[in-house]
Amino acid sequence: MIMARFRSLRWRLTAFYLGLLAVLLLVGGFAQYFAAREVLFRSNAQVLTSEYAAVLTAFRKQNVNRPAVALRALILSNQFSSQLASRHTSAAIFDVNGGRLAQAPATLSSTEDVPTLTTQQYLDAISGAPQPYYIATSSDGSTHLVVLNVIRNGTKALGLAQLSIPTDEIDQTLRADRQLAIIGSLLVLLAALLLSPLIVGRALRPLEQVSATAGALAAGDYKQRVTVPNTNDEIGKLAIAFNQMAAGIDQAFEVRRQSEEEMRHFVADASHELRTPLTSIAGYIDVLGRRQNVDSETLHESLHAMQQESSRMTRLVNDLLTLTRFETGTAPDRQRLDLDRFVNQALDELRLGEQGVVESRDVQPGLAVDADPEALTRVVRNLAQNALKYAPGAAQRWSVFSVNGQAAIRLEDAGPGISRQDLPHIFERFYRGDKARDRSAGGSGLGLAIARSIVEVHHGHIEAQSEPGKGATFTAWLPLATKPNA
Ligand code: ADP
Repeated sequence: MIMARFRSLRWRLTAFYLGLLAVLLLVGGFAQYFAAREVLFRSNAQVLTSEYAAVLTAFRKQNVNRPAVALRALILSNQFSSQLASRHTSAAIFDVNGGRLAQAPATLSSTEDVPTLTTQQYLDAISGAPQPYYIATSSDGSTHLVVLNVIRNGTKALGLAQLSIPTDEIDQTLRADRQLAIIGSLLVLLAALLLSPLIVGRALRPLEQVSATAGALAAGDYKQRVTVPNTNDEIGKLAIAFNQMAAGIDQAFEVRRQSEEEMRHFVADASHELRTPLTSIAGYIDVLGRRQNVDSETLHESLHAMQQESSRMTRLVNDLLTLTRFETGTAPDRQRLDLDRFVNQALDELRLGEQGVVESRDVQPGLAVDADPEALTRVVRNLAQNALKYAPGAAQRWSVFSVNGQAAIRLEDAGPGISRQDLPHIFERFYRGDKARDRSAGGSGLGLAIARSIVEVHHGHIEAQSEPGKGATFTAWLPLATKPNA
């Protein structure tokens, strides 16, 4: 549990962020400390150098009447060094070989030596230029800031005047500075630690929301979405992508729900349609079974009626099978069909003229489609039979033409047409128009649904237009074959 907590993104982000901050504070603290130390040493060294210059000028003035040789000797002696020394400052004079000529400790009572550098350092200071300052450790272990000044006579170096002060005051300032930096850094780290849940939590909140929403989606609440933060960053993009995915899932389930709903209706309708002839047959059997003697005429009539019901049922079952075959999208046995020849042949086989229909044809030659001939014949037959049923005796005008890469097979009849309330529904399964409710005249209500599913499985569509009283027009549109028939 605890391990899992430490492995969480929140914890890792916080640890990384605090670690980085600590490293930055440490580096910054060190840099600041050494910079302050350097500044303090240099400014103190400068003070010592100017003190030296002032004392030297005053000393020269005091001894202005002495001959040059005597003045030189005085400068290289205790006389000068004791003037250079003060309460804090100790002074010493060195010759050109680095040998000490005179010294004056800061405290008069002190008997110890002034701090000294290595002979090499003195020699280097005389031959080159002295460094801004030196750090020396005296015999009692205390450190001193040392400044060297070359005593010159014209350009000739006579010796070195050394001024030094103990570094305890500077060290004290630096110690205070160091403590301040440590306390400040700790306070900054503490503030960062206290604020980090707020900052990291704020950054991670959309992620938590995404995971909660994903859980809700998994539990079946497909309407859940995450709030998209109005920053165009990675998390914003994730939220958008997540919502798109959720919408996709929602849509997919909605489609599934609808198709399940449709399927339930379909099963209910089909059962209802099948029950009617079955009830009727059961009725005949019941009546015949109750009678002691059945005369041959009644028997014959009953058997005939039962046969009719059973063939009605067979037709219905066959229609249902056809519909399921095309609605499940099974690829039909497609081949290149010359529409001119195909439609003429299909109509010839229907022998409409023999059923008293005045039929005319206007077929544009040279159009071809890729289609299953058996299925397409079914479309033509269903349309023709509907016109026979619902527009009996009316003229039928068949035409074949093409518009925008689509071939059309159209039937216009001069019958009573379709009422406005029926027109939007006639392609639905089991839908029968008002006039077709009487089952002896109408069919099962599957004819146009079958025609539509056949046309759609060929990537086409079918439409009906009608003005009540002015006949009906059905048009099946199919994509033209891309290459002409070889
Ligand atoms: P049915 O098996 O009842 O014929 P269809 O799906 O073939 O079922 O037709 C659905 C309904 O469309 C019919 O009940 C009828 O009301 C109407 N209809 C179809 N064709 C025509 C037509 N040519 N003229 C008028 N109404 C028609």
